[in-house]
Amino acid sequence: MTDLLPNFFFDPTKCFIGGRWVAPLGGDYLPVENPSDGTEFAKIPRGQKADIDAAVAAARAALEGPWGRTPAAERGRILTRIGQKVLERVDDLARLEAMDVGKPLKQARADALALARYMEFYGGAADKLMGETIPYLDGYTVYTLREPHGVTGHIIPWNYPMQVLGRSVGGALTMGNACVLKPAEEACLTAIAFAKIAEEAGLPPGVLNVVPGLGEEAGAALTSHPGVNHISFTGSVPVGQLIQRAAAQNVVPVTLELGGKSPQLVFADADLDRALPFLVNAGIQNAGQTCSASSRILVDRKIHDEVLARMAERYTALRVGPAVADLDLGPMVSERQRQVVENFLGDIGSAEIAARGSIQSDAPGAGHYLAPTLVSGVTADHRLAQDEIFGPVQVIIPFDSEEEAVAIANGTDFGLVAGLWTADGSRQMRLARKIRSGQVFINNYGAGGGVELPFGGTGKSGYGREKGMEALYGFSVLKTVAAWHG
Ligand code: ADP
Repeated sequence: MTDLLPNFFFDPTKCFIGGRWVAPLGGDYLPVENPSDGTEFAKIPRGQKADIDAAVAAARAALEGPWGRTPAAERGRILTRIGQKVLERVDDLARLEAMDVGKPLKQARADALALARYMEFYGGAADKLMGETIPYLDGYTVYTLREPHGVTGHIIPWNYPMQVLGRSVGGALTMGNACVLKPAEEACLTAIAFAKIAEEAGLPPGVLNVVPGLGEEAGAALTSHPGVNHISFTGSVPVGQLIQRAAAQNVVPVTLELGGKSPQLVFADADLDRALPFLVNAGIQNAGQTCSASSRILVDRKIHDEVLARMAERYTALRVGPAVADLDLGPMVSERQRQVVENFLGDIGSAEIAARGSIQSDAPGAGHYLAPTLVSGVTADHRLAQDEIFGPVQVIIPFDSEEEAVAIANGTDFGLVAGLWTADGSRQMRLARKIRSGQVFINNYGAGGGVELPFGGTGKSGYGREKGMEALYGFSVLKTVAAWHG
């Protein structure tokens, strides 16, 4: 696996605080495991409250220094430069990520390209969010200003580390905030690498601070810190709830993106040749470790058996192996995560395993491999159809009417993404409104994941929007100025 050995153009054992590369104050480190073969190949800081305190203080100092007076156009220029430097490092970043979280190389590369796109998109957007003037009483001029929150805290997950970093930190920097980033303990390398790139691109000291560490240590210290003015979190529902509670103590706004149980609805008039690759890929991409994974396929009973057979055929052809082999799926990020999914599959009741992919025979035994699994005979209230599994498992459920399809689609605690497959234009418009979801895709799923498309949930999928211009409203506060001039 030496051909994957990452190019450490940065020091992974350091935190980045106030523009300096520093060892964690407690002197503790965490091992970095390669999920493809179980080996440890690096160590990262185990940041603690004292490191978070220093990072928040550095971010505050940056806001009170030149960063607080940097014009929007200049902020945009810096972000754009960061994007260019990310592009120059795409292959390094892809290899790092593949080694760190087990993503097949082409997926890791797509993530690095998305990170560059976030910087480009937000770089261009920095000077384009305007306030407004408000017609008011005689003698007054009233206008609004969009101002940064101040210090923003960013807790990101391990499944799409570069993409979530890009959308979260990118939006916050665009609006002039100063960030403290706590990446997931399973996936810190590209976040530390990004700080190096941002430094090289001329981001002033303290504007971005990165403190790797455990969720219950560095993460909890960040989200409960009284010096933090906004928290952006992507992760699990229980941790989202903890963070909301911590933020409540300081009355701080939070953006929560907490995952889903996203359906695709397939009607009898759907173009199945087009739909099939989407139906399957949306469930198995990134080994199903995707908040917006489509884990429920709802199918008109008239075509259920045909769709099941055609999906099963695709599943049987899916291959799982080390990130470097660049197959359809890599390993799960950790043995813990693999076990979570195995536990779901060990208790499927009267449902049936309709098809599974295969793990390459030469995949290292210590890697966390799991064969993608299609499950049929599942009722809408089945655990597999209700709980977020966060692995390469899809269930197929028949429906008999449009009303029933909508009821099943809306019948979970979540509401993040939905896909509609039908040629009937009226049904497309009708259901796009009826489905409870932050995004609805018609005759596609994900639309290529565009950075331009606002993203976020309803229900237990969370609230607030990241991505697109909409995110910039969340990463800023509106001030109303009313001047009396007679
Ligand atoms: P998963 O269970 O899939 O690992 P988590 O929601 O636990 O997802 O993790 C997402 C992010 O939240 C990670 O960066 C993790 O370190 C962080 N985290 C976990 N627990 C806490 C906590 N108590 N406070 C703040 N952040 C946390």
